[in-house]
Amino acid sequence: MAEALLLYEGKAKKIFETDKQDEVIISFKDDATAFNGLKKDEFADKGRVNLAFTKYFFNLLETGGIKNHIVSFIDETSLRAKKVSIIPLEVVVRNLAAGSLCRRLGFEKGIELKPTLCEYYLKDDSLNDPILAKEHIKYFNYVTEKELACIEEQALRINELLYTHMEQKGITLVDFKLEFGRTADGQIILADEISPDTCRFWKKGTMESLDKDVYREEKGDLVGSYKVLADILGLEL
Ligand code: UDP
Repeated sequence: MAEALLLYEGKAKKIFETDKQDEVIISFKDDATAFNGLKKDEFADKGRVNLAFTKYFFNLLETGGIKNHIVSFIDETSLRAKKVSIIPLEVVVRNLAAGSLCRRLGFEKGIELKPTLCEYYLKDDSLNDPILAKEHIKYFNYVTEKELACIEEQALRINELLYTHMEQKGITLVDFKLEFGRTADGQIILADEISPDTCRFWKKGTMESLDKDVYREEKGDLVGSYKVLADILGLEL
């Protein structure tokens, strides 16, 4: 592993080559970033905790029929995944208004969004991940119309599965971000991670965050609040 060739290093992960051409190793880092990397810190244990959440949520979704890129888990901070070409879209699903929706469009924080909103942002740090209209996606041909329909269908199904599960645990799934990848045979599957870094979770009936807003808004101990969430879910860390 130490000698494996580093293919890519992102804000929260490193991707390494493997002995198989169609597989990579993804290693979760302890870094936290916010505001497109303007705020950056390292938190002991965060990589391990986020991988544990990703395993938990991806398993839950797999049971619900949503495929993902993971082949196997190697150790507490790394996994083996199918090599996919990541679609350059961040897919954000929103059940309640928060974050950029309030900042950008003046929505009152916490109001219920019906129907659920599904938005697309361009994965491009140099442009600050701008929001895209479907017309832009079509114009730039990031994905075909059929692929976009498949992405949206999966995103909304993922939302149904996660929202219902979290609701039963006393947690409101406010919003979250997904990434999808294209496999060598042209399938579009869920990739990247699902963790409190990529979702907003509020204790039901409150706006108390158990997610990265603790860091963005400096509301306390980040990894500590992720561990509180893990406890609520019965997830052993
Ligand atoms: N999100 C993410 N990565 C990003 C941008 C957003 O995981 O680069 C997640 C974020 O944690 C939240 C949801 O997507 O759960 C919606 O984020 P929003 O657009 O409100 O942006 P923010 O307020 O986080 O800047």
